[in-house]
Amino acid sequence: MNLITRAEWNARKPTAGYVRLSATRGVKIHYTGGSVPADLAGPDNHDRCVDLVQDIQRMHMSGGRGEKYIDLGYSMVCCPHGNTFMGRGPHALPAANGAGLNSGHYAVLALLGDSGLTEPNDDLLNALVDAIEYLREHGDAGREVKGHRDGYSTSCPGDPLYRWVRAGAERP
Ligand SMILES: [Zn+2]
Ligand SMILES: [Zn+2]
Repeated sequence: MNLITRAEWNARKPTAGYVRLSATRGVKIHYTGGSVPADLAGPDNHDRCVDLVQDIQRMHMSGGRGEKYIDLGYSMVCCPHGNTFMGRGPHALPAANGAGLNSGHYAVLALLGDSGLTEPNDDLLNALVDAIEYLREHGDAGREVKGHRDGYSTSCPGDPLYRWVRAGAERP
């Protein structure tokens, strides 16, 4: 797995301690939605993934989702270059699944939109499986892999990625 530590992506420190999770039933998969540049997956463009993750953290911490989050809302983030960014990480309550749904599943974000870059490539799918396996090994995540739309009214994680989730979320 190509893990990008918080130090490596220049994450801001959380503004408060995480609520500890001892275990979850599994993982929920998310996408960024909106417009993601179609050429983000280009071999020279990974720097823009780092910028995007920093932007999402800044947005979450400044109240872009209604309340100011203590940190990026996701447990981990995966990019189309096969990299997995550490978010809140294992044994920490995420904030991305919707009220009341965060203690049941970790939240893993794919850098994928509903315009521009909309189809997950193999490197992204492998990074998602890396994140799921990491959260099982280090965070006692259970066997479930679901989409954000399971149990919450949203288009997330988009139809192409949701089809992959429903098909068993396996390596390509
Ligand atoms: Zn989502
Ligand atoms: Zn990347």
